[in-house]
Amino acid sequence: MVRDDREELIRSGVPVSAGIGIGRAYLVGRDTGKAPRHHIEPDEVDAECARLHRAIGTSDKQLEKIKQQLAEESESETDFHIVTAHQLMLHDEHLVDATIEYIKSELINAEWALRKAVDDIRGVFEAIEDEYFRERASDVDHVADRVLANLLGRDDTDFDPPPDAIVVAYDLSPADAARLHRAAVAGLVTDAGGKTSHTAIIARAHEIPAVVGLEDVTEAIESDDLIIVDGGSGVVIVNPAASTVAEYRDQQRRQAVRGAVLLGNVALPAQTTDGVEIELYANIDGPDEIPSALSHGARGIGLTRSEYLFMTEDALPDEEAHYAMARAVLEQMAGRPATLRTFDLGADKLAAFLEDARLDEPNPALGLRSVRLCLHDLGLPLFRQQLRGLLRASAHGPLRLMFPMISGVGELRATRAVLDEVRAELRAEQVPFDEGVKVGIMIEMPSAAVVADQLARECDFFSIGTNDLIQYTMAVDRVNEYVSYLYEPLHPALLRLISGVARAARDAGIPCAVCGEMAGDPVVAPVLAGLGVHELSMSAVAIPEVKAALRASTMSDLQALVARIDRLPTAVEIRTEVITYLDALGVARGSGR
Ligand code: PEP
Ligand code: MG
Repeated sequence: MVRDDREELIRSGVPVSAGIGIGRAYLVGRDTGKAPRHHIEPDEVDAECARLHRAIGTSDKQLEKIKQQLAEESESETDFHIVTAHQLMLHDEHLVDATIEYIKSELINAEWALRKAVDDIRGVFEAIEDEYFRERASDVDHVADRVLANLLGRDDTDFDPPPDAIVVAYDLSPADAARLHRAAVAGLVTDAGGKTSHTAIIARAHEIPAVVGLEDVTEAIESDDLIIVDGGSGVVIVNPAASTVAEYRDQQRRQAVRGAVLLGNVALPAQTTDGVEIELYANIDGPDEIPSALSHGARGIGLTRSEYLFMTEDALPDEEAHYAMARAVLEQMAGRPATLRTFDLGADKLAAFLEDARLDEPNPALGLRSVRLCLHDLGLPLFRQQLRGLLRASAHGPLRLMFPMISGVGELRATRAVLDEVRAELRAEQVPFDEGVKVGIMIEMPSAAVVADQLARECDFFSIGTNDLIQYTMAVDRVNEYVSYLYEPLHPALLRLISGVARAARDAGIPCAVCGEMAGDPVVAPVLAGLGVHELSMSAVAIPEVKAALRASTMSDLQALVARIDRLPTAVEIRTEVITYLDALGVARGSGR
């Protein structure tokens, strides 16, 4: 329902996918495990306690409704009694009083206080020897999850936004994010996230205007509110006035015209005016993105995030699934190179089998993720199946195999040893594959960047994963909105690391790419080219704009620019220097990357 009693509200977040979206808010349920945690002021305590009581009241009503349904439909009395027990727990003083006590004594928000109270209760249950009682800990979790969902104003319906909706969420699960474009939504706004959170990457890949890192925007927006999302500037307007809507519709039209003009360069090479060509490739999550990659002018695929097979399907992908996916990519690319990265799961990219394993890692981003998982008992059988599938697909086109998160030569050798075993198996079975398949690695942690000269001697190409390289160099969680200001692609430390990696690759005579999101930023891409990176792989939609920036420069000017910025000590000064250079060339910039 449209509510005209509400004021126009303007909020600013992190712009992650350019374009303007106008539509009605569709609020999405969320993973309550990631509820926001923040401190409150003493005068906010009462309001926070009132929020808790309201959420408990709503949960109570929901459970009552479920009980009524069960009484009408179900033969089993057990379910009915379980729900009654959950209702009792909802009002249990150990839960409610303890939560309120945490709010008051530690001055923290209700979500955080509830989590702490539940952790205490869980500890008590887990210490009980009787298995039945021990298992009751999960009931406490269910009850707490329901209250958390209500605190966050979510219902628990399935993700099914209508076309042209603006999806509003704390953050999206990877599976929901992957369904965004099929739903043809008009925009996305989230509380959490940063430029390289996977939700942001997916929004960009599908040209969905998106602003993330809005901290608590979900509290300010109600279902069906009219929303404008400006993914270029990071502005979100809730309940805009009619004149604001008209202004943004105008901008939308102008951007469409500009996009069409840029697409005019699709057939042209990404060549500097003094004749140096940079390969512009696309990053994809699966074969269905290839038509868009080609129509935006990608000359190859620089990164296939194969882990999406694990994240979007219910069943674990087997050898056939990997083979079919890679073969579909190669066939559509018709002889152009396609880089297939082996699965990079863990941290913020979770699959059901990992959740079932309940690893309980205190620092998942520093834990059993990526190639570490592939070499661990938990992931090794899946890794071997994937390698078999990918190698078999290499018979159908120029497949480049790429390992993520390699820390140094020891890990590279361990990973290659598994590959060698799988190759030997296929040979013994007389299964055809390309014996000359190129094997490359991602450089995405400082340790790998520092020993890039040693790594370059033992692989066929590098691709710098700057999303993680920034995270690990700057010690800044790539999805944490509170520290997103530190997530700076033009930080001098990062540029020095990239420069060293590019030099090591050049000395060893192997190609060096960048496939992190900064490769698709028209302000940053020319710097990467000047640093000696020959291939830039990005969301397909970014290609025309990056190409326009490269085609406006000479390589010698870019190298001179890089020499100038090498002397500058802060990212702000570097950015100003680059923008001054690009403005003098007349390169227009409309990106939200
Ligand atoms: C990166 O880290 O830069 C990268 C491309 O990999 P992902 O974003 O999938 O971690
Ligand atoms: Mg990475």
